[in-house]
Amino acid sequence: MKPNLDLTGKVALVTGGGSGIGQGIARMFASLGASVAVADLDLSGAESTAHALEAEGHPALALEVDVQTADSVDAMVTRTIESLGGLDILVNSAGVGSESMIVDMLEEEWDWVLGVNLKGTFLCTRAAARWWIAQKRPGKIINLSSINETVPLAGEVHYCASKGGVMMFTRAAALELAPYRIHVNALAPGMIETPLTEEVTQIPELRRMHLKQVPFGRFGQPEDVARAAAFLASEWSDWVTGHTLFVDGGMHLVGEESYVWAMERAMRHDDSIPRVPLCWPPGALEDKAGDS
Ligand code: NAP
Repeated sequence: MKPNLDLTGKVALVTGGGSGIGQGIARMFASLGASVAVADLDLSGAESTAHALEAEGHPALALEVDVQTADSVDAMVTRTIESLGGLDILVNSAGVGSESMIVDMLEEEWDWVLGVNLKGTFLCTRAAARWWIAQKRPGKIINLSSINETVPLAGEVHYCASKGGVMMFTRAAALELAPYRIHVNALAPGMIETPLTEEVTQIPELRRMHLKQVPFGRFGQPEDVARAAAFLASEWSDWVTGHTLFVDGGMHLVGEESYVWAMERAMRHDDSIPRVPLCWPPGALEDKAGDS
């Protein structure tokens, strides 16, 4: 039998499916034949994604969820199973971020980012794994990490800590759940054009600067990530678990990124730091480092 990228007959649950990458993954999975539950804190976003899928003839369901809350997550999984007849694939795409220097960061801001990105991933994984194990059914989990699981970013220590956590959560959960035939993998996007990154991609100066950090010379689209998600959801990846797949046009390979972002953010937060051009010509960073 030939392995197949087709998801016909599968049920997928996508958190954060009302926007950006999650929405792109929901669309991709539906186009490959899956029934898709679209869950989001923003119910109207989930509904508009689900309605668009239904209008194209794909079975879909919109759900409201707060991934930080166990009761809400458990209800989301139960509703998916009851309404769509099971669960085969879980995508943890709900995620948040903010820009804050350590000295200014509120405790609530830290708890929010870690709560959605890391605790939310745990709660959703737990709810799905409990059902799969009880039913003796296999499952596939795809966590949305980020290149910042390994690439440090000044001004976002909470985000980096959450994604580093997602990476190790993915590896440890993959080990623990392998005996139950549950795969756990992660995707690490670079800069993808979604509402989450609008502050960078919509400002021409910042856009130019960040494009220089992408060896392939363009920002990603949700569909770029959705294609990789399709691989991890399908039987083509049946021998892959505990892995993070970088989907970033090579951005994580660019060593100077952290330094550029640190300078740019420090300049914005502290007037006493000398101004330097936001878009450095090649080699200028080394010159600047030599000056100090
Ligand atoms: P997005 O467009 O902002 O979508 C994220 C969705 O998650 C939003 O609809 C948001 O709802 C929802 N959400 C927030 N808090 C939630 C909660 N407590 N419970 C349920 N849903 C919640 O962001 P995205 O760019 O698609 O990002 C998706 C994932 O990819 C995130 O984990 C992000 O860290 C990761 N990622 C993105 C990029 C990128 O460049 N875009 C790069 C690397 C990694 P609200 O709008 O109501 O808040």
